[in-house]
Amino acid sequence: MIIGLTGGIGSGKSAAADRFEHHGITIADADLASRAVVEPGQPALAAIAEHFGSDILQADGSLDRTALRHLVFADTEQRKWLQSLLHPRINAWLRNKIENATSSYAILANPLLFETQQQKWCTRSLVIDVPEALQLSRTMQRDNNTEEQVRNIMKAQMSRSDRLAIADDVIVNDGDLAHLKRQVDELHQRYLTLAAE
Ligand code: ADP
Repeated sequence: MIIGLTGGIGSGKSAAADRFEHHGITIADADLASRAVVEPGQPALAAIAEHFGSDILQADGSLDRTALRHLVFADTEQRKWLQSLLHPRINAWLRNKIENATSSYAILANPLLFETQQQKWCTRSLVIDVPEALQLSRTMQRDNNTEEQVRNIMKAQMSRSDRLAIADDVIVNDGDLAHLKRQVDELHQRYLTLAAE
């Protein structure tokens, strides 16, 4: 059984995933995957350096992610090229992690779970939902960003209502961290039961 975990920026996905992990659940994390496939030594990094030039690498040979983001931001063609290079590798990384999971169910954590159609891999989807004011204040504090910067990221993401319309399960993260953990603990028990059926 695979549970797809998603939510907007600063909704509390990482905090929720940490709690599932605390219960021994394997987490396949799309953010981690997207970094892992471009680590030094990975074929995708060599392909990127060949395509964009070695200036895209930092002195230590690792990818300059900020420079790459700027390069593809305004250039649809280049963005498509990069996505077609990375997406199959990210998917393979995530599938491998899930196939090797040792827990009674696994979690696929992806901020773009619905946008990338990855919920098709999942038995159920779990959305971490948060009121907008809390989403703003928590994200601004975590990332040291202005309200405008966070609002721009939110605008580029799927709307809260669209996400909730697709979700099988929802955690409303509008209390303290202990409240979030309790909700995760309850769902974990439900998922264990479902996985055993
Ligand atoms: P996401 O992974 O969805 O972007 P995070 O899990 O990083 O979100 O949460 C965003 C920020 O808000 C983090 O600094 C986190 O510690 C904090 N946070 C998350 N949930 C709560 C909560 N219930 N109470 C207080 N702070 C929270």
